[in-house]
Amino acid sequence: MLSIKNLHASVEEKNILKGLDLEIKPGEVHAIMGPNGAGKSTLGYVLTGREGYSVEQGSATLDGVDLLALEAEERARAGLFLAFQYPVEIPGVSNLEFLKASVDAVREARGEESLSSKDFLKMAREASKKVNLPADFLKRGVNEGFSGGEKKRNEILQMLLLKPKLCILDESDSGLDIDALQVVAEGVNSQRSPDRSFIVVTHYQRLLDYIKPDFVHVLSDGKIVKSGDYSLAHELESQGYAWLKDQPAADE
Ligand code: ADP
Ligand code: MG
Ligand code: MG
Repeated sequence: MLSIKNLHASVEEKNILKGLDLEIKPGEVHAIMGPNGAGKSTLGYVLTGREGYSVEQGSATLDGVDLLALEAEERARAGLFLAFQYPVEIPGVSNLEFLKASVDAVREARGEESLSSKDFLKMAREASKKVNLPADFLKRGVNEGFSGGEKKRNEILQMLLLKPKLCILDESDSGLDIDALQVVAEGVNSQRSPDRSFIVVTHYQRLLDYIKPDFVHVLSDGKIVKSGDYSLAHELESQGYAWLKDQPAADE
């Protein structure tokens, strides 16, 4: 599914990712934890092709497709979804129109027919119910006046409708309340399938208690320095990240 090898990337001429390796197989859920400033959000931005991030070395492929060679929209069409990609407010464009446009684009890229407005509305209403958003949220401007928790539900709604191959959720700084945390967890759990994978970036052990990832990685100073199973999240919760500094970095 996703294969990242020796990835070096920088922003504003500052090296952030310094030889990152990560392999994700179909159906797996990987959590990424790590100290502030380690490069966790940068990884998401580099994979999705955000402007201003440059890759100096290494590779990232999704089902064999060289992601780094694609434009940002093409990456989304190749099946990549970054949950914090659309936190912006777009007044004047309804959530429904916005969602339909993104779903149409992805379906087109997959060679599928675009849905009729009626069928899409039905699908969007059902998905809204799942994330506990009242149907009138579909009519409102994209994220306009949404609370933090509502934005989060809306992101998960997008994920449910887009059905991506690889979802990257960056929850580090979003100050989620328990309800929103459960929406995220349920969104991930309900979308888990043998052909879909997840990267969940989080500081919250509690989110991982709900999600139970297959693997937990620690990203520190631009590299994955430790990988383990779900129990690693508990170890980190009780011991913090400092003890990792005394260990030799995991090398390929
Ligand atoms: P994390 O998500 O792990 O907390 P980030 O990926 O957000 O870390 O940031 C990694 C490092 O990159 C930090 O030192 C941060 O200050 C720096 N950084 C991120 N974006 C920029 C930018 N636009 N300009 C300069 N430095 C940046
Ligand atoms: Mg941060
Ligand atoms: Mg971050």
